[in-house]
Amino acid sequence: MDINKFLSAFILVLLVLLNYWIYEIGQKPPTIATKSYTEKNKNVGKVQRKTDQETTELQQTEQQLKEQTNLKNNDHQQEHGHGHGHDHTHAVSNKQTLPPNPLKEGQLKQLFEEYHLVDIQNIDPSIQVDLKYATQQNFMGQNVYGDLKKAYLRHEIAQKLSKAQEYLKEHDPHLSLLVLDAARPVRVQQYMWDLVKNTPQRHYVAYPGSSIHNYGAAVDLTIVNKQGEALDMGTPYDHFGPKAGSKKEAEMLQSGELQQKHINNRNLLRSVMRKAGFLSIRNEWWHFEAVRKKEVAQLYRLIK
Ligand SMILES: [Zn+2]
Repeated sequence: MDINKFLSAFILVLLVLLNYWIYEIGQKPPTIATKSYTEKNKNVGKVQRKTDQETTELQQTEQQLKEQTNLKNNDHQQEHGHGHGHDHTHAVSNKQTLPPNPLKEGQLKQLFEEYHLVDIQNIDPSIQVDLKYATQQNFMGQNVYGDLKKAYLRHEIAQKLSKAQEYLKEHDPHLSLLVLDAARPVRVQQYMWDLVKNTPQRHYVAYPGSSIHNYGAAVDLTIVNKQGEALDMGTPYDHFGPKAGSKKEAEMLQSGELQQKHINNRNLLRSVMRKAGFLSIRNEWWHFEAVRKKEVAQLYRLIK
């Protein structure tokens, strides 16, 4: 055989082998290839989930914007910001994510006593008390007062309230004042603030420390009859539509949204409270203050 032909054939074989070898190392071993494929799919899954999450977040943001728009269009924010709620049908809260109010047994009672507040019923046992925030039947759907059962106020303010009860009894001995809320410490106001901060109710809870309730100088109340039933005031407690205020009462009486008996019952409450020295506000039929906001900080200590 010609040596050149032999060499050519040998080189050709080498080239074929080299080519095959190059092809072989270009391929990954089958096990690694499978893993890689799986990982790749996993990553695709992750990207997909992230996209889904972003879409949900986007939908939530859109929902929040819608709520904000609805609120703007139907804004009944209280000018005095006393820290109540809105219509019970809209009650939403963070109670799923926020732990229960971390109050120890007897903590609020002890706190009020440290601030020299008095139990209203120690001043006047005939005044009835049902603290709505110490139950779940409120706009937050959560008890924010722990085991507190009594309503506390500054001593002289509790005395004023006793006067109002006296005036009510003069009008009709079968009627009584029913206190729904009174002194409320800043720590509870803060808890309420946190509870509603991501809900439409955030507009209806006063900033911690800015409510006259935080000084023990405001009271929320209604009137009950001999059977202990609350007189019909036209809206429930903590209803925040214009129906709860006095501004549009005449108009709403005309339109039939409020009845004469509602106005009469509200007027009775206002008259005995005003006669005793309390101030009413225009947005909430149930809320009365012994002093105005601009004066309160000079007169009383904030209950922390
Ligand atoms: Zn109030």
